[in-house]
Amino acid sequence: MKPFDYLRPEKVEDAVTALASTPQAQVLAGGTNLVDLMKYDVTHPDLVIDINRLPLKAIEETADGSLRIGALVSNSALAYDAVVQERYPLLSSAILAGASPQLRNAASTGGNLLQRTRCYYFYDPSTRCNKRDPGSGCSAIGGVNRIHAILGASEHCIATHPSDMCVALAALDATVEVQGAQGKREIPFADFHRLPGDQPEKDNTLEKGELATAVRLPANHFAKHHSYLKIRDRLSYAFALVSAAVALDIQDGTITELRVALGGVAHKPWRDPLAEAEFAGAPANEESFRAFAARLLTGSIGQGGNDFKIGLAAKTIVRALTQASVRQPQVQSHKAIF
Ligand code: SF4
Repeated sequence: MKPFDYLRPEKVEDAVTALASTPQAQVLAGGTNLVDLMKYDVTHPDLVIDINRLPLKAIEETADGSLRIGALVSNSALAYDAVVQERYPLLSSAILAGASPQLRNAASTGGNLLQRTRCYYFYDPSTRCNKRDPGSGCSAIGGVNRIHAILGASEHCIATHPSDMCVALAALDATVEVQGAQGKREIPFADFHRLPGDQPEKDNTLEKGELATAVRLPANHFAKHHSYLKIRDRLSYAFALVSAAVALDIQDGTITELRVALGGVAHKPWRDPLAEAEFAGAPANEESFRAFAARLLTGSIGQGGNDFKIGLAAKTIVRALTQASVRQPQVQSHKAIF
């Protein structure tokens, strides 16, 4: 590991100033991804900015009925927060589907947004990887690509975003609050993560020197009909092959609102609001759910090793929508799927 300087600021402004003024600065919160990346020689910061003393650990209800979650709130604290469990059970469920209790205790909300892909080649500096080393090529295309993208990929990168939490945040129309040297701004969640295009090294739309300070959740009416269903190779602890965060509003057997975000299939949580709008007014039954799955997966393409994900994603969407419609959300404690 390369030597680096270490800073532990007390104020957000000081963290942002250091982040903006040091070319190779990296932010440390829970460290559950950054420390691995440094040990594997994937990233080499000149400066590590430890933000754990910043005042970003609160979960607050706001005047407009939103919930504001500080970037340093741990995954465990968020999943078990009483307001989150009551009003945003989809988010709580998605968090509990991820990682292990030890990791969830350490990992932060902001860090979850910013975690890097789990593409095997990205973590192996002896291989070609456009995300780690722009212009070097993509070893996953034509290589081992069981865990890779079926939607929104490019000829430069077919990686997926690994988060569970972010899939629920996408379905819930969250907003990310950021602060930089130029001041504060807000980024709709759908615009926070990006597709790889010809710049796969850029995971998100943060500008240089900007720090994610909070996530805001608008009020919603999805506490009744929701489910987070995660399909993985190993039930005890693994990243998603495919996951679906589903929220429904159903009146007299008819869908009045539908939200579906997919994890494990693209470089960002995958949602299509136009497709969702087409199904408002449809009966809440298996036929509608199958038709929606086909619509959402339009344009999906396998890379050989991950061809199975297309069919798996369709089944996952239908199953999660069925669970949500009958108010039997996926249980994350024993993980058996009904
Ligand atoms: Fe690198 Fe992306 Fe290719 Fe993986 S899929 S090897 S992260 S460029």
